[in-house]
Amino acid sequence: MSERPQPYRGRFAPSPTGPLHFGSLVAAVGSYLDARQQNGEWLVRMEDLDPPREVAGAGTLILKTLERFGFEWDGPVWFQSRRHERYIEVLETLQHNGLTYRCGCSRKQIAEQGRRMGLPYGVYPGTCRCAPASVQQKHAIRLLSEGQQVEFSDRLQGIIRQDVEREVGDFVLRRADGLFAYQLAVAVDDAEQRITDVVRGSDLLDSTPRQIALQRLLGYPTPDYLHLPVALNEQGQKLSKQTLAPALQDDDPLPALWQALHFLGQNPPAELLEGELESFWRWAISHWQATALPRKLGIPCSGVS
Ligand code: GLU
Repeated sequence: MSERPQPYRGRFAPSPTGPLHFGSLVAAVGSYLDARQQNGEWLVRMEDLDPPREVAGAGTLILKTLERFGFEWDGPVWFQSRRHERYIEVLETLQHNGLTYRCGCSRKQIAEQGRRMGLPYGVYPGTCRCAPASVQQKHAIRLLSEGQQVEFSDRLQGIIRQDVEREVGDFVLRRADGLFAYQLAVAVDDAEQRITDVVRGSDLLDSTPRQIALQRLLGYPTPDYLHLPVALNEQGQKLSKQTLAPALQDDDPLPALWQALHFLGQNPPAELLEGELESFWRWAISHWQATALPRKLGIPCSGVS
């Protein structure tokens, strides 16, 4: 086995759009166990980038739930809302290298132009590439994605390929309302926190090539990725605040933790439900096997949703 160049460092990066639910617990448990089993560090980063989508107090509630559930994170929690100056600097670097442009298109214009050009829904047709919006006009900043063909090997999902330019188009780095895009913030923070391993839900699999494209353009290393199956409700939708997933119960962590472990294919013994939180974690860390994870993008979890 070859030596890893750096010690393992993983992270859990919730968005404070509501309290933690079973779906987010699965990502927290998977990333935590994968890190701890390899004697790695595990960081928590609050992705509070988008105030209109956030719920007051949710960030504090999330941290409290993590603590009650027995997660122990390394170092202080990073808050993306405190990182704007750094994102501006990175954006300026990309701008100076001629890798961005101003886009004044509305969603409707993008959809209409895409339809005329026969592009799949959502792909940016490149309208402002050659004729960017003026500085005075309300505009987003997009990344020039020319030639960004990305291929990576996900530890669970296998080889993933995406031609970012054709399949996504030039994507937004800073929105017209001034907010930074998730793709930019996550690429910058994963690099600056020296994350070696990203373990998260498969709903973000499609975003990973955009993050890798940014890593390449910014000279950042690419971490290893493992995209876990996401928990689906009876209608086949991802558990989320939008699909009204219930909040976790802080005062009764063991049943949900046990279910999360079971969901992740780890075969926890029933006795863990009767014991202490410490013995649960001891068992879970020492028995974690990434090879036992179900290689699926989503799994129904009736009974927990
Ligand atoms: N903040 C994102 C979310 O809650 C996760 C980002 C990530 O893990 O890269 O969906």
